[in-house]
This record gives sequence, C-alpha cells and structure tokens, in this order.
Amino acid sequence: MMIVMKFGGTSLANAERINNVVNIIKSRLNRNPLVVVSAVGGVTDKLICAAKEASKGINPTEKANEIINIHRDIMKSLNLDYDFLEDDFMNLHDSLNGIYLLKELSLRSLDLISSFGEVFSSKILASYMTSIGIISRQLCGWESGIITDGNFGSAEVLEESYPNIKDSLSNLDKIPIVTGFIAKDRDGNITTLGRGGSDYTASIIGSALNVQEIEIWTDVDGIKTADPQIVPNAIQWGTVTFNEASEMAYFGARVLHPKTIKPAVKRQIPVRILNTYNPENKGTLVLNDDVENPMFRSISSKDNITIIRVCSTDMLLAHGFLAKIFEIFNKYRISIDIVSTSEVTVSMTLDNINSSLKNLDLAISELKEIGNVEILKDTSIVCIVGRGIRGRLGVLGRIFNVCKNEGINVEMVSQGASPLSISFVVKKEDSVKLIKDLHKELFENDK
Ligand code: ASP
Ligand code: MG
Repeated sequence: MMIVMKFGGTSLANAERINNVVNIIKSRLNRNPLVVVSAVGGVTDKLICAAKEASKGINPTEKANEIINIHRDIMKSLNLDYDFLEDDFMNLHDSLNGIYLLKELSLRSLDLISSFGEVFSSKILASYMTSIGIISRQLCGWESGIITDGNFGSAEVLEESYPNIKDSLSNLDKIPIVTGFIAKDRDGNITTLGRGGSDYTASIIGSALNVQEIEIWTDVDGIKTADPQIVPNAIQWGTVTFNEASEMAYFGARVLHPKTIKPAVKRQIPVRILNTYNPENKGTLVLNDDVENPMFRSISSKDNITIIRVCSTDMLLAHGFLAKIFEIFNKYRISIDIVSTSEVTVSMTLDNINSSLKNLDLAISELKEIGNVEILKDTSIVCIVGRGIRGRLGVLGRIFNVCKNEGINVEMVSQGASPLSISFVVKKEDSVKLIKDLHKELFENDK
C-alpha cells in the first residue's frame, strides 16, 4: 500500500524547512510514499507578477533573477550543485522576455510562467533526497499522467488521467516527487489547476492509485473548534466529515479547499491534515460522511466583508428585481457570499479581497439606478458549523442570547445552503468577542 504526502509552499520555504520535510518523508518510508509539492512559498505570486509586469513593458530580468536566486540560495544551503536547473532558469528568462517583447499575456502563457515554481521546487527536493541516499525521481504533473481540459488558469482534470496515472506511477522503484498544480492539456500545452491546486493533484493521484491515505502537510495542527489565535483553548478534532470540512472552508477556517479533496472523498480515501511544525500530532482525518459527528464542529470567521443593501424604492421586490441585482454583480465579476432578503431590501456580502474597487464602484452606481444603496464596510462573517444547527430553534436561541448579552448587533443572518451551518454578519470590532463567547457557550460548557 502507498500513501501520498503533499507539502505546501511554506513547508518548502527554505533549506531548513526542506530538511524538516525530508525528515518527515523518512519517517514514512515503510509506507511507500509518493510526494507532491507546491512551489517554494511565495514563488507562484512572484512569477505571476513578473509575467504581468513584462506584458506591460517592464523589463523582467530583475524579477526573474530574484526568483532564480531564491532557488539558488536554497540549493547552496543544501549543498547542491545547481547546474541541473540552469536550463530551466534560462527557460524562465526566455519565456518572460517573449512576453516583454510582445507585450501580450494570454492565460496560456500565464500558466506556462506559473508552472516554473513547481518544476524548480520538485527538482530541488528530488535531487536533495537523492544526494542524501533516498533515491528519488522528479516528475512533472503531465509525466505522472494528469491530462486536463484547456481551461487555462483553472483546468479540470480529465477522466482518462486516472488510468494514465496508474500506468505511469504504479511500478516506480524510486520515490516519486511530483509537481502539484501543473499539468498539460491534450494538445500538450501546460495548464494549471487553480491557485492552491497542489492539494487537487495529491487528491487525483491518491485516488488513481487507490492509496491508503493522503497526507496534506500544512502549518496548522488540523481542524479545530476555532482559530487558536482567537480561542487559545480551541479543541482539535480527530475526524471531521467531508461536508463539515467544506462548510468550514467556505467561511474562513484554514482547512482545505473542498473541491480539491472531492476526488479522494468520492473514492473513500481518507485525507489527513498534518502540521510540518508538529509532525507528532496525529492531525485531523477528513472522512466520508458516515462517521458519527457531534452537535457542533467549529466557529470560523472571515473579516473584511462589505455589506451592500439595496432598498427598492418603488417596487415591493417586484418580479425581476433580484435578477437585475445579480446581473449587475455578474457583469462586474463580483462574487457574493451571503444574501438575505426582506420585503423591500436585499442585503449581500462581498469579500473585499476578491472584488476590484473600480468594479465595485461601477456596480454600485448601476445599483443606484434601481434602488437606494447602503454600504457597510468592515464587517465580519461568523459561521457556526455542525449538524446541531439543523432545524433546532433552541440552538438559534442560544446563539442570539450570546449576542444579546454582549450587546452585539447582528447585521445579517443566513442559514447556510446546507443545513450544517449558520452564518451571521457583525461589525468587525465585535467578532473576536463574539467568537470567544460562542465558543464558551457551544464547546466549553456543553451538557
Ligand atoms: N503554487 C501554487 C499556488 O501558489 C499551488 C499550490 O500552492 O498549491 O497557488
Ligand atoms: Mg500554496
């Protein structure tokens, strides 16, 4: 039996972290590991930035050298001779120069540039492991059998990848170190699976090989009842269900993106979240939905939320009113998290980080044509996840009592799309207090 071990960018940020990763891999050699890696922390962002700048006429040489030097420094500290990456380094310079000369950046070229991060990190890890006697072999996503559609920037993995992966990876005698995040389409163009896509790679490969477990190595101990930075005595869960993990991910809990582990969960392959800073900790196992689950799982929150309220002036939520509002948001590519409606108003929350301010201004001026618009900035979404939420008035009473006792005004409430969660929006300055108090109420004095 095999396991897949996936390491993210922070786990590979420098020589010391890489050494730590190698020690963790060593501790699992008897379980036949296949390793999936992200780019060195921050490198993907830098690559994207260099490509965008080059397309605007900024000479990319300096940025490319900065990226290359991050890797040279790591190789030097690991005592690796860095000839083996020279061709790839040249390639990065050439590709960025092409964009610079043409002043043109397609999504396809952007994927090509983004792919360098994982190529560099995987080659470094494989040669370092080999240099200390753990014979490894670097493979790019496409060499491991992954084929995607041509939707550059967030490509979908095609079904034929599964038998391909089995063919490519089943009988390797060296430890495979596979690039996360990157693949190729049927025409041989490099594609990427969306930001954070290395988890997705791990999950696809783990599923294709029907491994015993997929380990996702991060920098947190697993899934807890709340963010330990807000609630120091938050409790760590040994297991959570996939549906619960999905709900938690949606509103700020630092767990996996649900889409990325779906292939594994579908095939009943357990996914374990572990901490490279604390490898002794057993982490949290994400399982299919048949495990026993407690009433409440977690309280998470997401800051920097803006509420937009549109109050229809002359129509009582007349036919087409909602559609018009969503059309406007759609036009300006602004995504909405929570919606709640009353007789005459529609309130929506927006994630500031994801919406460009210019688009937001444009959207607001169009919204003003259909109603009064009110904007409330600096709010937070607080989200409670657990099966206990389902249709239990008593629970709502408990939650609102906590708000009432603290004099906290709830701006919006939404029972999640699934019956597993409830979210409400409060002013940002109230959110920490509220989370602490709710944690006490739901987890610390439960009967
Ligand atoms: N390096 C890619 C990113 O930063 C993929 C990943 O980290 O999973 O999005
Ligand atoms: Mg990452």
